Amino acid sequence: MKLRSGTELKSTHFLQWYKTAHKVIQVLSRPKGRFTVTSAATGILERLNANEVVIGDGGFVFALEKRGYVKAGPWTPEAAVTHPEAVRQLHREFLRAGSNVMQAFTFYASDDKLENRGQTLKITGAQVNEAACDLAREVANEGDALMAGGVCQTPSYLSCKSETEVKAIFKKQLDVFIKKNVDFLIAEYFEHVEEAEWAVQVLKMSGKPVAASMCIGPQGDMHGVPPGECAVRLVKAGAQIVGVNCHFDPLTCVEAVKMMKAAVEKAGLKAHYMVQPLAYHTPDCNCQGFIDLPEFPFALEPRILTRWDMHKYAREAYNAGIRFIGGCCGFEPYHIRAVAEELAPERGFLPQASDKHGLWGAALEMHTKPWVRARARRDYWENIHPASGRPKCPSLSSPEGWGVTKGHTELLQHREATTAQEMQHVLERQKKAKSAV
Ligand SMILES: [Zn+2]
Repeated sequence: MKLRSGTELKSTHFLQWYKTAHKVIQVLSRPKGRFTVTSAATGILERLNANEVVIGDGGFVFALEKRGYVKAGPWTPEAAVTHPEAVRQLHREFLRAGSNVMQAFTFYASDDKLENRGQTLKITGAQVNEAACDLAREVANEGDALMAGGVCQTPSYLSCKSETEVKAIFKKQLDVFIKKNVDFLIAEYFEHVEEAEWAVQVLKMSGKPVAASMCIGPQGDMHGVPPGECAVRLVKAGAQIVGVNCHFDPLTCVEAVKMMKAAVEKAGLKAHYMVQPLAYHTPDCNCQGFIDLPEFPFALEPRILTRWDMHKYAREAYNAGIRFIGGCCGFEPYHIRAVAEELAPERGFLPQASDKHGLWGAALEMHTKPWVRARARRDYWENIHPASGRPKCPSLSSPEGWGVTKGHTELLQHREATTAQEMQHVLERQKKAKSAV
């Protein structure tokens, strides 16, 4: 292996390499905090065509909900307008952790979502999208990062609105992304391949590169379309990058992307691949992923992956041929830093945030307690089995599994708030579903 500076890297001398890599960072650091060898002017497709690793960012709605800027339930991103400093800071932390993509905080920033189920539309989708693009661009310009605008699934689709109506929603968001000159576009978090295809078809109108990412696992979309078929359809719709995000843990998501890659290749098509999973372990989930877990969304903490789990994820994703590797809900900057550290030999440098992080616990050599100093080694952290600290904490849960999706009356959306009668109905429905398990 070679560092881009030409320094030989031998796996048996990892610590020595790590110290060398730190020096490389210092050499490459420029006054405005730039710290890589790739120019920010290089587009997403050029980077992927050159087989470079592109590191994504983490989950903004989950991270900002915990910090008090996003409301769980609607999960909408008004904070881009109301608390720009919080959004900017999170972008900066992901940039320092090694992210090459500043994804504008536009998740669920469509008008139909901003006024769904009792939300009042105080700030329009256009305002949120504009503010989010400005913040992402500002921070992307501080380092080697691209800026992407994103659309995701809509309540209108779940409510069986027409293709024309759903596409008009994406178009409205795209108009802002074009005005703000985003570097590329991401259609992410789609449970149904049909809606994802519609999104890709709209985003393609811009002429900019389009990535399409579905929130599905190896079982496929909510109508049972397998991941491979989803990927082929998305490539045919015009996506140059395909993959999955959210809903499942990293290794499950990598598995789903492998299925996508195999099917795309079998169909004689070409694409790049992306993966942005949860930072939660989800071995007990069915096709709807972590949404069905009884712990979703307020008691997921015992399931969080450690930074060391992230090393395994990054290596698996890389070995599977995936080059756009990031995270979704639960991913904090330290998780992304772990991805960047694992892939430092391939990328040729460590992220800025590694200045404060001894690789594989190396900085613990400076700890006052000798038994903690004894943990300053890779084999200790690589093999740790962390305890939950909860004597009665079960390893797995039983997911809800109502088995309903788009086309079912239970999923029709509306602007009005949930009524007491509706709440009574869902509680009875839940009881029925539980007794059926
Ligand atoms: Zn997510």
